[in-house]
Amino acid sequence: LNKEKQGLNTADREFENTIRPGQIKEFAGQPQLIENLTIFIKAAKIRGEALDHVLFHGPPGLGKTTLSRIVANELGVNIKETSGPVIEKPGDLAGLLTSLEPNDVLFIDEIHRLSNVVEEYLYAAMEDYRLDILIDTGPNARSIQLSLNPFTLIGATTRSGLLTAPLLSRFAIKSRLEYYTAEVLTKIVLRSANILKVSIEEKAAKEIAARSRATPRIANGLLRRVRDFAQVLNDGEIDLGITQHALKALNVDEYGLDEMDNRILLAIIEKFKGGPVGITTIATAVGEEAGTIEEVYEPFLIQEGFLQRTPRGREVTHKAYEHLGKKPNRGGSP
Ligand code: ADP
Repeated sequence: LNKEKQGLNTADREFENTIRPGQIKEFAGQPQLIENLTIFIKAAKIRGEALDHVLFHGPPGLGKTTLSRIVANELGVNIKETSGPVIEKPGDLAGLLTSLEPNDVLFIDEIHRLSNVVEEYLYAAMEDYRLDILIDTGPNARSIQLSLNPFTLIGATTRSGLLTAPLLSRFAIKSRLEYYTAEVLTKIVLRSANILKVSIEEKAAKEIAARSRATPRIANGLLRRVRDFAQVLNDGEIDLGITQHALKALNVDEYGLDEMDNRILLAIIEKFKGGPVGITTIATAVGEEAGTIEEVYEPFLIQEGFLQRTPRGREVTHKAYEHLGKKPNRGGSP
């Protein structure tokens, strides 16, 4: 599986699977989404039908994969997991789809990276549980129709802006995952610590939560590192002191901003006098795609009050100057 999310290696993924909630009641946060999903799952079960196709979109590490597995679990069906770039040919897709039992879930991560050809085959599969496969070429070319078991496609993407309209329209349920509040993240950290059997002070969990970019994956990752410090220096006890010591040693940003967040803010301050500046200009300055900045980085920076959108472009706020230890070199910054 091609997972380049936040540089995860095999050990990281194993760690994630250990603490991944498996049931809907263990999944913290996203209340509206969970409420709706619970209803849709129950209704599908009452009717004995496959759940409608679901799209989860939103920044990395907010629980799209976790939720997809939970949905299959709650439906009481199997889940097959793959990702957009792994399905290279229509034949790969046919192999996956024909192996599904009635009402199973097919999970396609990074669904924005499907090839056009594969995507076109997916349309009929999603709509009518049918695959039209073209075999042979030239005068012998003919198409055969495969009918498939009813299934639920769950797609996940960080870049819903890259999905085509025909694909989007075939997902009856589209849910955006939101960043987590510090309170919910604290609960997640406490739960993970419990599973890892490490003792942690509530204050320490809060500190980790506050510095995790409102993202469960980052919070769990920090917990894992802080645990190392605690085990070596503090008899395994995660208190506020050892947490602050570890986070300092790890160079973790006070607000949990990551390197790209800081680069974006710095570029706007240093190269564009704090803005306003257009998104494509920022993208060039930091060497990242404009769409990724818009869908992955900017929402967090705006939510936390470091950046604002104005009709003339993006502008950093006073909080950004303060955070980076810079002085505004223009008047009127909020
Ligand atoms: P995504 O697919 O959106 O990148 P994942 O579903 O892989 O994110 O989640 C990343 C990690 O964060 C997993 O280890 C998971 O256990 C944890 N996690 C995500 N959302 C939640 C949540 N709501 N409650 C508890 N843990 C969560």
